[in-house]
Amino acid sequence: MAQKDYAFQQCIIPACGATCGVDEVRVACPRCGSLLDVAYAWDHLPLPRSLREFEAAWARRSDPHCFSGVWRFHRLLPFAPIEQCVTVGEGQTLLHASEGVAKYVGVKPGRLFLQYEGMNPSGSFKDNGMSAAFTHARFVNATRAACASTGNTSASLALYCSVTRLMKAVIFIGSGKISYGKLSQALDYGALTVQIAGDFDDAMARVQEVSSQLGIYLVNSVNPFRLEGQKTIMFRVLEALGWEPPDWILVPGGNLGNSSAFGKAFQELALLGLIRRIPRLAVINAAGANTLYQLHEKQGLRWNGGSPAQDAVHAFYDDMTQAGNRAKTIASAIEINRPVNLLKCLRALEVMDGVVREVSDQEILDAKAQVGAGGLGCEPASAASVAGAKRLVSEGIIGRDERVVCVLTGHQLKDPDATVAYHTTDQELFNKVLGSRGVRRAAFANRAVAVPNDIDEIIKAIHLYG
Ligand SMILES: *Cc1c(COP(=O)(O)O)cnc(C)c1O
Ligand SMILES: [Zn+2]
Repeated sequence: MAQKDYAFQQCIIPACGATCGVDEVRVACPRCGSLLDVAYAWDHLPLPRSLREFEAAWARRSDPHCFSGVWRFHRLLPFAPIEQCVTVGEGQTLLHASEGVAKYVGVKPGRLFLQYEGMNPSGSFKDNGMSAAFTHARFVNATRAACASTGNTSASLALYCSVTRLMKAVIFIGSGKISYGKLSQALDYGALTVQIAGDFDDAMARVQEVSSQLGIYLVNSVNPFRLEGQKTIMFRVLEALGWEPPDWILVPGGNLGNSSAFGKAFQELALLGLIRRIPRLAVINAAGANTLYQLHEKQGLRWNGGSPAQDAVHAFYDDMTQAGNRAKTIASAIEINRPVNLLKCLRALEVMDGVVREVSDQEILDAKAQVGAGGLGCEPASAASVAGAKRLVSEGIIGRDERVVCVLTGHQLKDPDATVAYHTTDQELFNKVLGSRGVRRAAFANRAVAVPNDIDEIIKAIHLYG
């Protein structure tokens, strides 16, 4: 049997259940327009008896597919033959136990872990999904790929295009909404970059139209293959914990691709009998982009076994349009008001007994400073997971004894403006970058010390402040 007989695409709505082949390029169910999953005929596939079997791949790491933090788990995302899978060396990440962040969040020492996805080649978790989307794109002989992006998807797409030479990249960004760290990557890697007068939600709508008109392969997270790659973030977390699931996974929520992928990963591992317990999930929105929080926590919207009240979603979006609400947060990677994977995320919240919280930009930046000081640095959006953990501990929902994993989605150097503005002594700069976002103070600022160009004064300053 060929690979494509073992894997197929399937509508996420059980009452529809339409299927199509993995060799088709679709961003929506052909029957009802809902989202698609990649699904597998597991019975016909070679499966590991235990997750420990994956450890053997590391001994064969001179093979790029064993080195890859995505493809060494190929048997859990087998939609293409292994020899066709695209890798640039993604997924060499670290699960870091941070004492400083544990203390800040309020859990016992040794219980707080940071899954550091900033170590990926393009500096964010997006590479996990991009390796899978590129594999599918190669499978269907695509020559051009596009995405709308708050920055990291475009950086990742551009990197995969420049390294593999398999496709040409077309990137859509909203005007003035992308940090220089991310924009510089897309430009450096040589991607065609189209700047649209509008925000991310506008760019997302246009890229979908343009892709379908010109037959360009779309790599946004509506692409179900991307989420297959992102499942491996959880496999690596389990691996780092000796295959013992933690109690909590916390992740920032933007387009909700990660949270959706994590839910699918654990649902499949449980189905295959490879884990006995599923961790709980907390998805953390920025308060200025809190659609999921509003719908899940305030309106009680649930996956409901596959029949979510979709009318409530449409009504919410209509109200948002009427009120002219635009997403607004310093955490630009999650500055999204119409998350494309909303329904899949509701499913993940059901599978993982999840909760949703919102955190302010103040909480995000304070948490980010703590991550930088007591863990490994991250960009603002990533720190939402840590700020959310602190909240859930203070609410008594996360216990002080529980093992908590916060996913740090992107590298610290992605958005240096926010970091420098937080630590600055220049009140004007602080106000311009952060004050306008409602940030009032920088409780954990590490301020530069100004000294005259004089050796005695410098030595004095070192004694005084060191
Ligand atoms: C894309 C991105 C997010 C949002 O992830 P979703 O899967 O869209 O919810 C969060 N943080 C960073 C750094 C990102 O690049
Ligand atoms: Zn359908």
